[in-house]
Amino acid sequence: MQDQIRVDVLVVGAGPAGCTVALNLAPFYKVLVVTHQKPTTKAVGESLPAAASRLMQDMGLWSSFLNEEHQPHRLSKSHWGSSEAHFNDSIRNLDGHGWHLDRHRFDEWMLQQARVRGAGFLKCSALNDINFQSYREMWSVEIEVDGRRVQINANWLVDATGRKSFVAKRLGYSPKTMDKLACGWMIGKLSESAEQESEIYAESEGWWYTSVLPKQQRLLAFYTDADLTSAKDAHCHIALLKRAQQLSGLAQTLGQTSFTKSDLKHGFCAANSATLPQYAGHRWLAVGDAAMSFDPLSSQGIFNSLYTGLAASTFVFEELKRNQPRYQVNEYNNALVEIWNTYTNNQSSWYTDQKRWPQSPFWLRRQKGGVF
Ligand SMILES: Cc1cc2nc3c(=O)[nH]c(=O)nc-3n(C[C@H](O)[C@H](O)[C@H](O)COP(=O)(O)OP(=O)(O)OC[C@H]3O[C@@H](n4cnc5c(N)ncnc54)[C@H](O)[C@@H]3O)c2cc1C
Repeated sequence: MQDQIRVDVLVVGAGPAGCTVALNLAPFYKVLVVTHQKPTTKAVGESLPAAASRLMQDMGLWSSFLNEEHQPHRLSKSHWGSSEAHFNDSIRNLDGHGWHLDRHRFDEWMLQQARVRGAGFLKCSALNDINFQSYREMWSVEIEVDGRRVQINANWLVDATGRKSFVAKRLGYSPKTMDKLACGWMIGKLSESAEQESEIYAESEGWWYTSVLPKQQRLLAFYTDADLTSAKDAHCHIALLKRAQQLSGLAQTLGQTSFTKSDLKHGFCAANSATLPQYAGHRWLAVGDAAMSFDPLSSQGIFNSLYTGLAASTFVFEELKRNQPRYQVNEYNNALVEIWNTYTNNQSSWYTDQKRWPQSPFWLRRQKGGVF
């Protein structure tokens, strides 16, 4: 016989966005978060902007976050529109400094906050069926847990599955991919302490990002389009390092880092912008990357996961409070449309600022705009 669980809200995915929804709703409603038995991808991205402190305060997380002692991020240096360096110092930011997160520890902490506030977690090996039963006004979702089939009945369903948008796709809403940006990254060991500033360098086929990570490590990431020949370098850590050494400023920064085999971690992943055609529908919502994913140049992905997670939980809270639901999902949809429009305008202005390689497909595509 199939096990049955009845909840108010079912969240699929336990990244920052899913945990934000869960931790805000769990004190008031029965919330279950379904996670992967074996996560297939490692979370990447560690730069959290200073404005996140406001969201943390709104959610009652601020002092606990500070106790985690993530690394302050005060200064960034960029060689973007010209070879000259431009500095961005947090001293001019009203919210103060941002953070370089120990990303694994941050995600675990978010999960713990949701658990402490009463959210349930269930690890599943497969998500089989997602059905909306109109006669009961309820979702019925079948998952597999340790070889057993479990049916979950929920009033609201939240897609927090990251770039996969797993639930939205099952409901027939595929994300629209805007570009082919991909990232080849590597993490090496620092031989001595180094400047905490992050650095960005534009080059003919893309751009580079490097920053110091916790535990005496350095991240080096190269962003280019997956269909360009430069993507071959992004796949291979030896070619990646050789390419980085061709930029003299970057080569100098990397000087104190060992990228030898025993110290090295590396990977290749998608980093493109994408958006769902709509972010919510009848008793379902998408949050974080599942709703829209950003170019990492923005450093806004984690912030957006917290923001949309909080907005979604506020919306669902109100809907569940009324015995007569309003189904005004347009409010949530419209708020996210505004975020997407602001993001795309900013993104277009960052890329048009760079005019040094007029023949390069990487820059031409972005300056022309549109989807590629
Ligand atoms: C190369 C790169 C660099 C980045 N750098 C930064 C940065 O510096 N700063 C920043 O703010 N952002 C950065 N980002 C973006 C940031 O990492 C994401 O925006 C953020 O992780 C999104 O959080 P999320 O909770 O929406 O999704 P995720 O963190 O992807 O979490 C999704 C969760 O859902 C789970 N899941 C997926 N499918 C299923 C399923 N079928 N069933 C159950 N669970 C499922 C996954 O296992 C995962 O736990 C970067 C992204 C990339 C690709």
